[in-house]
Amino acid sequence: MSVDVLDIRDLTFRYNGVDVLQDLRFSVETGDYVGLVGPNGSGKTTLIRLLLGLLEAGQGEIRLFGRPIGEFRDWTRIGYLPQKTAFVTPRFPATVREIVALGRLAGKRFPKILGRTDREAVQRVLERLDIADLQDRPVGELSGGQQQRVLIARALVNDPDLLILDEPASALDPEVRDRFFQLLADLNTERRVSIVMVTHDLGTIGRYSSKLLYLDKRIVFYGTYEEFCHSEDVTRIFGAFAQHVICHRHGAPTDGGGLTPNPLLPGMAAGPCGEDRCGEERK
Ligand code: ADP
Repeated sequence: MSVDVLDIRDLTFRYNGVDVLQDLRFSVETGDYVGLVGPNGSGKTTLIRLLLGLLEAGQGEIRLFGRPIGEFRDWTRIGYLPQKTAFVTPRFPATVREIVALGRLAGKRFPKILGRTDREAVQRVLERLDIADLQDRPVGELSGGQQQRVLIARALVNDPDLLILDEPASALDPEVRDRFFQLLADLNTERRVSIVMVTHDLGTIGRYSSKLLYLDKRIVFYGTYEEFCHSEDVTRIFGAFAQHVICHRHGAPTDGGGLTPNPLLPGMAAGPCGEDRCGEERK
C-alpha cells in the first residue's frame, strides 16, 4: 500500500493566540501537483513553514511520508524553493556551485564533507538547469532569473520526492518561466515527484497542477479540477465566471490587463472573455 506524501489531520496554528490556520485536514498523494492558493494573509506561508518543520503545530498532526513530523529525519526527500532570492548583495560570498552543494550538506551528519557522489549530483543538476557554465561565478553577480535557477538546482540536487515551492515564478521572465514549468511538469509526470506550489496566479495554475487547495485560514476547497468545476459550492463561493476561467485553464492576465480585478481570486482579473461571451464554451 502506498503511503501519502503528506497527511494533515486537524491542524490548527495560532500566532499570539490568534488562529491563523484552523482544522486543516488533507493529504497529498504520490504524483499529486497541488496549487496552493488564497488571499494575502490566508496562511499559505505559515502552512509551508509548518510542513518544513520550521514552526511547530499547536494542535493536530502532520505526517511526512507516513511518519509524524517530529520523528521525520529524511529531509533530503523534500526540496524547497523559497519565495525570494536570498542573495541580495552583489558581494554575497559564494559561488553557484557552492550554493547548490549546500543542498547536499543538509542531509549529512557531522562531519559534513562532500564526496565524489555529491560532486557528481551537483554537476548533474547544474547541467540539467543549464547553469554549468556559471558554476564558478559569485551568485550575487547573476541576474534574478539566473539566481532563481540556482535555487531551483539546490532544491533538486537531492532528487526529492516532494517539492515545495513558494511563488517560484515571480522573478522569472516569460521564457525562463515556461521552461521552468516544463521542468516541473517533467519531474511530476516522469519521476512522479509530488509538488505543492504556492501561487497567486489562479488564472494559469490550472494549466500545470492537478489539484487545487484554496486556503483562507480554513480549507475552502481541496480537490481535483474536475471536482472544482462541478461543485455547486464553488460556484456559490467564487462565482460562475471565476469557476469558468479556472476550469477552462486558459488563464487570465496577472496584471489585470486593464480589466477589473477579482477580489476573491488574487492574481486573476476578469479574463479574456466575459461570462456572457464564454457561456457557449461551458460544458
Ligand atoms: P499568506 O502566506 O497566505 O499571505 P501568512 O501565513 O504569511 O499568509 O500569514 C497568515 C497570518 O498570520 C496573517 O494574518 C499574518 O499577519 C500572520 N502572521 C504571519 N507571520 C506572523 C508572525 N511571525 N507573527 C505574528 N503573526 C504572523
